[in-house]
Amino acid sequence: MDLARIIKPWTRQPHKTFVFTNATIIDPVEGALIPNATVRVSEGKIVQIDTTDSITVKENVPEENIIDLSGKYLCPGLIDCHVHIAVVPGETDLRAYNDMSERVSLTRQPHVLRTMIQRGFTSIRDCGGASLAMKEAVEDGVLPGPRMFIAGFALSQTGGHGDMRNSHNDKLCCGGTISGISRIVDGPAECYKFARDELRQGADFIKIMGGGGVASPTDRIEHVQFSDEEIKAIVTVAKNAGTYVTSHSYTPQAIQQAINLGVRGIEHGNLIDLETAKLMAEKGAFLTPTLIAHVMSKQMNFLPAASAAKNDEVLEKGLRAMKMAVDVGVTVCFGTDLLGPMHFAQSKEFSVRSKVLTPLQILRSATINAARLVMQEDRLGQIREGFTADMLVLNANPLEDITVLDRAEESILSVIKDGRVMTSRLERLVAEH
Ligand SMILES: [Zn+2]
Repeated sequence: MDLARIIKPWTRQPHKTFVFTNATIIDPVEGALIPNATVRVSEGKIVQIDTTDSITVKENVPEENIIDLSGKYLCPGLIDCHVHIAVVPGETDLRAYNDMSERVSLTRQPHVLRTMIQRGFTSIRDCGGASLAMKEAVEDGVLPGPRMFIAGFALSQTGGHGDMRNSHNDKLCCGGTISGISRIVDGPAECYKFARDELRQGADFIKIMGGGGVASPTDRIEHVQFSDEEIKAIVTVAKNAGTYVTSHSYTPQAIQQAINLGVRGIEHGNLIDLETAKLMAEKGAFLTPTLIAHVMSKQMNFLPAASAAKNDEVLEKGLRAMKMAVDVGVTVCFGTDLLGPMHFAQSKEFSVRSKVLTPLQILRSATINAARLVMQEDRLGQIREGFTADMLVLNANPLEDITVLDRAEESILSVIKDGRVMTSRLERLVAEH
């Protein structure tokens, strides 16, 4: 009797060994193709890549696990660095989410995770709302989904981007109150305490609301939020725990404050100017624009009128800002920030970016740059020996046309995560889920 399997009936079968032959590997480091490659995947890792027709690469692999990828491309699994899986589909506008119970959200999150995998995202970084329980459920095999790096709840000041109370709501909230995807904290003491508490509850990094936002009712985009002392406290907590802080910031003032205090990542950054972009490059900071969120919010009338006006302003400037950041050498990552009914548009960020960036710049943002941001650059983001086997089988070359990644149902033939087949339209390759 296999007791472990009785206790956890969802335990997956041991990893299969696969050999992919005649593949064209996409290398985002060099921006090049590696033709006629044979790739051996075992125990969830890429163990051997051969371009010399050696026979050892196929040794002891059953015939049915040798997959011919002639005419197809092997691309590293995609990484979305800004998602909120807890703000699930099912309601038409933002207001409904303030009233949604966590239980309702939890029943819908598996759907969000499964569809992200189908779009080729083998890893995600959740910037507020995802729980350790959901991350562990995916790791454990209870439900299919991308590998998760989570912030727990984002930290916001009272009246900041994470405070969803409107101006007529006079209920006081005390330290650490949870409001949507955020916790409300004020003063260095609460910042220390609740940053530590997020880490205790499994946060991989700390997200702060370091400036005004689009979706929040009582702040303005141009507001700077936390004080220097508060940000310093949070940065200290993160650094002491071997991790980092990323900040929701749109304006040069908010970005400069954060970066100068040791914050490592900037989310959105739509209103960045040249001086600030140069500062980010010099400090080695990461920028994660999330332009599709603005495009879709407008198209779907997701925001109330006051937020919609803020949205128009930042959308226009966001594209130019992203290009400027890339041009001065900032490490730019792929992010989407889609909420509620808009998750379906996740891959459209590729097309939005293609208006100003090259396919290689965009692919890097979703692979090697993103892997560095989540501190996994020695195991994620590349098809390389020793790396985790997160791979997409594509029937088109994204270095020629990045928008093929927008059309997952046409271009993505299979998604492999951790050496396990998550989705497949290839005859010989069968999905586990
Ligand atoms: Zn966000």
